[in-house]
Amino acid sequence: MSISSSTSIEPIGVITCKAAVAWGPGEPLVMEEVEVSPPQPMEIRIKVVCTSLCRSDVTAWQSQAIFPRIFGHEASGIVESVGEGVTEFEVGDRVLTLFTGECMSCKHCTSTKSNMCQVLGLERKGLMHSDQKTRFSIKGKPIYHYCAVSSFSEYTVVHSGCAVKVSSRAPLEKICLFSCGVAAGLGAAWKVANISEGSTVAIYGLGTVGLSVAQGAKLRGASRIIGVDINTGKSEIAKAFGVTDFINPDDCSESVHQVVKRITDGGADYSFECVGDTETITTALQSCCDGWGLTVTLGVPKVTPLISTHYGLFLSGKTLTGSLFGGWKPKSDIPSLIDMYLRKEIKIDELITHNMPFEEINQAFNLMTEGKCLRCVIHMPK
Ligand code: NAD
Ligand code: ZN
Repeated sequence: MSISSSTSIEPIGVITCKAAVAWGPGEPLVMEEVEVSPPQPMEIRIKVVCTSLCRSDVTAWQSQAIFPRIFGHEASGIVESVGEGVTEFEVGDRVLTLFTGECMSCKHCTSTKSNMCQVLGLERKGLMHSDQKTRFSIKGKPIYHYCAVSSFSEYTVVHSGCAVKVSSRAPLEKICLFSCGVAAGLGAAWKVANISEGSTVAIYGLGTVGLSVAQGAKLRGASRIIGVDINTGKSEIAKAFGVTDFINPDDCSESVHQVVKRITDGGADYSFECVGDTETITTALQSCCDGWGLTVTLGVPKVTPLISTHYGLFLSGKTLTGSLFGGWKPKSDIPSLIDMYLRKEIKIDELITHNMPFEEINQAFNLMTEGKCLRCVIHMPK
């Protein structure tokens, strides 16, 4: 048995704290006193500092069946205690949580081609990877996790492979956005599509994910960045993130892919689906050009998980690919994105439209459901 040298060898106990528990699909979250168990071997317990709401939380809350549950997967915090065998983290370290982890040794982690860790990849059952149990309970009854992160709680337990240490200079109330949406969008543009200078880009959905794709495309020198959203209110902020042409499909007299094809001389070099709607994947494919057009789909659909599209789109040389967390290897790559932010090479502050205390978390769910926010950052009690 080994315990990190800097941590106390006192036994680590159960913590009781406030968490926002979802008891059923679409039901407002309820502030509950939950017991948070000590970190198990190779796990850490984190005092959450800030956590932002991502569309994926809302989609799962509305459409999945695992309850009671604690959502939240974009978060920053401070390590409160470490489990047996953890040498990478010490009490007091500043961290970001990772909804898809990196074990550093599986076939995928050791390949340069993938970020789909076989050991700590996206967890879908509401349990911890290592023992298929929960670390939260109320009066002994288990409360399920979300993506093995569950940051809508004052304290949470994550596998040490599902957290990354961050610079002491990085503001925790901002950089929580790198835990998911911002990194997912930038990586889709840079790592997955590898957008080249002068190319044309069409982006469907201009939330935090789509705007981060736009920022990535702009920094790569794309000549034209077409943003498509059913909410015209997104057009101003879209410009600030590099979108050169805004289209609301509801204002078009022809189908939106035809508009994109017309203004890009036959189709965009790259298109991105950042809505979470499988029909939009087809539209995005139809919007990119023959021969080399590449569509990257990032969205997580609430309904209709199957894609249906004409085979001819592929025969004409288009490619469809998906992207989880922008293809980044989370532990290895996220610190350099944060450094870019600290050097002011990428911007994220403008994506934070609301800040609110933890008690008002339902307001964040309302704002996102109504399409009235980009990221709401929820501040946990000090
Ligand atoms: P968001 O809700 O903030 O943004 C979605 C945008 O799509 C909104 O501006 C909305 O008005 C627009 N929209 C809705 N229907 C549309 C349509 N038919 N055509 C065009 N625009 C439409 O969401 P977000 O947080 O930016 O996330 C976007 C998607 O990406 C979600 O599905 C989310 O679950 C997913 N996501 C994926 C990853 C990943 O790693 N792949 C990471 C984070 C989020
Ligand atoms: Zn997310």
